[in-house]
Amino acid sequence: MTWSILYRGSLSSCNYACGYCPFAKRANTRAELARDFEELERFVDWVSGCPRELRLLLTPWGEALIHRAYRRSLVRLSLLPRVRRVAIQTNLSAPLQDLAGAGPSLALWASFHPSQVTVERFLSRCRKLDELGLRYSVGVVGLREHFQAIEELRARLPRAVYLWVNAFKRSPDSYRPEEVERLVGVDPYFRFNLPRYRSLDRACRTGQTSFTVDGKGDVRRCHFVGQVLGNVYEPGFEDCLRERLCPAERCGCHIGYVHRPELRLEEVFGEDGLLERIPLGWPEVDSRAGGLPESPAGVAGQAEPHSAQTPPPSGVWQEV
Ligand code: SF4
Ligand code: SF4
Repeated sequence: MTWSILYRGSLSSCNYACGYCPFAKRANTRAELARDFEELERFVDWVSGCPRELRLLLTPWGEALIHRAYRRSLVRLSLLPRVRRVAIQTNLSAPLQDLAGAGPSLALWASFHPSQVTVERFLSRCRKLDELGLRYSVGVVGLREHFQAIEELRARLPRAVYLWVNAFKRSPDSYRPEEVERLVGVDPYFRFNLPRYRSLDRACRTGQTSFTVDGKGDVRRCHFVGQVLGNVYEPGFEDCLRERLCPAERCGCHIGYVHRPELRLEEVFGEDGLLERIPLGWPEVDSRAGGLPESPAGVAGQAEPHSAQTPPPSGVWQEV
């Protein structure tokens, strides 16, 4: 059985200053960075010795790809025979040439932040990824003030590149119906991301075939449930992995709800595109794009519209 692992070390800093992010222009000290890079190297060593097939997504608190240690580690991971996929969330501001030697399993989850970079500049970074032959999705937070830039980006990106929009779900009046339609025009799967799905006591593959690992090696089922299940650096840690129901009221992030079997999102994204968020067959659009069984317009009582959500708990951040 292939494991999907989300890795997040102790790094918590970024070179950008997005207004919606707690890591905006936050810096780590040299000592903190050194610790993070040591943690990363230890994790990469563990992966290289792991007998399982793995899919990996690096989900740093902030921007990690600007650090050479991450670029080197990604290349190394992408060349390991049992790593089916290795992806990272990034704002794409890093020197990308360092990824030239990567294997085909490397993918990027590239976020566009219109307050920090122009469409033109961001497109030039995407062209660089194309030149390098790298697989990537592009994403953006669906803030009302950025609608025009988001549409411009969609119009100018090659159709073969999927552009996803994350719903900004923190205010009760996030979107009017016509605004939802406008964003669906950019991302046909936008409605998947609108709800914070009810998840309490429902099946979720996290903690069984998918889990997170932090810098110390501690294993949690997902980024939204704090309980530590084990530690990958301890022999026999896999005994902690088993079928579990979700203990959280709701789940509203792609990196979480894609692991809920009820939503059948692996049928839309394919097992190999689930982590980096590239739909299977894109730019063909799956017939379920109009709404999931639990979408706001779907099965009653399964989910509520985005407007009913509460802000994420402290320390929990969405995949912007
Ligand atoms: S949203 Fe991303 S790019 Fe923007 S400040 Fe936060 S970590 Fe940096
Ligand atoms: S919060 Fe989301 S990812 Fe975590 S266990 Fe619940 S449904 Fe799964």
